Amino acid sequence: MTGAFDTHSHIQDPQLLGDLEGILERCERAGLAGVALCGYDARSNDLALELAARSPLLQPTVGFHPHEADEVTDRMLTDLEALASAPEVVAIGEIGLDFYRNLSSHENQRRLLDRQLDIALRLGKPVCIHSRSAEAAAIEQLGPFAEAACRAGMGIPGVMHCFGGNVEQAQPYMDAGFLISVACTVTYPKNEVLHRLVETLPLDVLVIETDSPYLPPQTMRGQLNEPAQVVRTAEAIATLRGETVQRVIDATTANACRLFRVPAREPVTTA
Ligand SMILES: [Zn+2]
Repeated sequence: MTGAFDTHSHIQDPQLLGDLEGILERCERAGLAGVALCGYDARSNDLALELAARSPLLQPTVGFHPHEADEVTDRMLTDLEALASAPEVVAIGEIGLDFYRNLSSHENQRRLLDRQLDIALRLGKPVCIHSRSAEAAAIEQLGPFAEAACRAGMGIPGVMHCFGGNVEQAQPYMDAGFLISVACTVTYPKNEVLHRLVETLPLDVLVIETDSPYLPPQTMRGQLNEPAQVVRTAEAIATLRGETVQRVIDATTANACRLFRVPAREPVTTA
């Protein structure tokens, strides 16, 4: 039996780090097949690699979040590429565009994204994309990247993390070969746009995530999220689609393993 794969978490966040042992234990108990541990700045990138060595469940990714775009220097990008070339790093991310909070200029965000897409191409690794209020803008950069990745025979070019658009906005990303990641926000009763999305999209483009410590499921509103809760996302998708939870987990874990080029890990069975 396959376990669920959390394709996006930040368990190196200071709010979670103190309970790392407990978090990993609950991942094992929930039978998870994998947890992507995503960096977003220099320190969290280093930590992603460091912590990933502690459990075979953890798959590190490294990148500079668009919020960092005004601060990232050439030297930092050189260091990132060196870090990202480690064989255990499964993807470049989280990277992208955030035109909602606008913590860095749009011009710098676009430039930083292009530089990191170039790193992904040079290393032949997929990307984890953060796109907020930037669905139309992001495809302008991700479309050519996906074409180049396809020419290079890279496989799946990347994943749209915590996708916030509607079915129409998802289409160009699916056409370009990107996977669409659904977060625990799918458990919120009023999130009709996302409900519609998961009812409509084929299972072979979907993956699931928690974005821990953010975006806890409905039953944990106001608390810190953690990777074991990714099962709540699978349950909500199964209900919306009228499928079994196991079928949703099997499909999304297979997609996650193809995305990150990792084998599905067998759940630990406690006798
Ligand atoms: Zn994130």
